[in-house]
Amino acid sequence: MSILSLKDGNPVRNQAEQIPWPQKAPAACPISAVKARLRSVGLRPTRQRMALGWLLFAKGDRHVSAEMLYEEALRAREPLSLATVYNTLRQFSEAGLLRQVSVSGPKTFFDTNVSEHHHFYNEDDETVVDIPGSEIQVSGLPVAPDGMMVSSVEVIVRLRRADGEETVTKVAGGRRA
Ligand SMILES: [Zn+2]
Repeated sequence: MSILSLKDGNPVRNQAEQIPWPQKAPAACPISAVKARLRSVGLRPTRQRMALGWLLFAKGDRHVSAEMLYEEALRAREPLSLATVYNTLRQFSEAGLLRQVSVSGPKTFFDTNVSEHHHFYNEDDETVVDIPGSEIQVSGLPVAPDGMMVSSVEVIVRLRRADGEETVTKVAGGRRA
């Protein structure tokens, strides 16, 4: 599954070309679908965007930080700088391909699932996972100020080990009891 095959103009595009985006079967994600997805939001499918788009969207829904994606690109032998990864993630977010999830301080995750949903944040291993929509109900929301409306509500439920190990030394801004 090397993404290096992108550059020789001979991508594997046998099956599943017709699968609509987004599709949930990681193995079936063709390169052409990534390309089409970029074009659909007006982004030219440059080699860098294709490489990162493949890493992001070919594995089903996921939550990644810029640093995580950078590491993946290195492992895939993609010669990208961290700055390029940041810029590309920002472009994808502005185009609506990704949703940003801010969990603590400057730490931002990028979510390939752009529908409204909520998250668990594990403070021990600093990972983000979805809370299935049916498992949380938000009530008692404040009335929006005059002229404003609530556009969305995002809940982040912070987790730590129940036995109290480990997390005591972690610094996490905005920690709630
Ligand atoms: Zn999510």
